[in-house]
Amino acid sequence: ALELKDVWLTFPTAEGPLDVLKGVSLAVEPGGSVAIVGPSGSGKSSLISVAAGLEKPSRGEVSLLGERIESLGEDQLARLRRGRVSMVFQSFHLLETMTAFDNVRTPLEIAGLDRVSARANDWLDRVGLSRRRLHYPGQLSGGERQRVAVARALSSDPALVFADEPTGNLDAESGRGVADLLFDLTNEGSTTLVIVTHDDELAARAARIVHMRDGRIV
Ligand code: ATP
Ligand code: MG
Repeated sequence: ALELKDVWLTFPTAEGPLDVLKGVSLAVEPGGSVAIVGPSGSGKSSLISVAAGLEKPSRGEVSLLGERIESLGEDQLARLRRGRVSMVFQSFHLLETMTAFDNVRTPLEIAGLDRVSARANDWLDRVGLSRRRLHYPGQLSGGERQRVAVARALSSDPALVFADEPTGNLDAESGRGVADLLFDLTNEGSTTLVIVTHDDELAARAARIVHMRDGRIV
């Protein structure tokens, strides 16, 4: 599902070029799950950005769903990712002007999938929010917002889900609920999960744990 070979990510800064990823290699087979752990600033979010195709590597190879992304144009990359690669972030990233239902439904429509309203309703049901469908994000609790974000990410039946500290803003109980949703899906079938977390208990639920330090996998 995903393969990184000797990936470097370098940013220009006022102090000169900064290597944020320093030769990272990682392969995840379809249906697998990987937890990425490590100290703040070690490059976990950067690794996810590159692996998910949000950012191109400065050097090295990234294969996403069987395609090498380095040479793809923006449009080709968007087409490759659409409906097949989903993200869940710590801070939800919901559209504030849309209801929970529309937050889930709209990306499905953009991805050109069928039965978009039914899917959105099914997933809001699954995450326990059928009675909050028409609430706006501002009218939801943090845990509820994250469940909307999870419903949005999973409703397209993606091949790959990247979650960057998805439980970071939640209390322990809501966090477990969100983690259950993510892990249930990978246990069900061919969905691959890459999850960044500071929570050891959560990391232990992944098939594999990868430790990062100073831009490298250690
Ligand atoms: P945290 O646990 O705090 O989220 P992280 O492991 O996710 O940390 P990253 O966000 O990947 O860390 O950042 C790794 C390093 O890269 C940090 O030192 C950060 O300052 C630097 N960095 C990230 N993005 C940029 C950028 N656009 N330009 C310059 N430096 C950056
Ligand atoms: Mg991070």
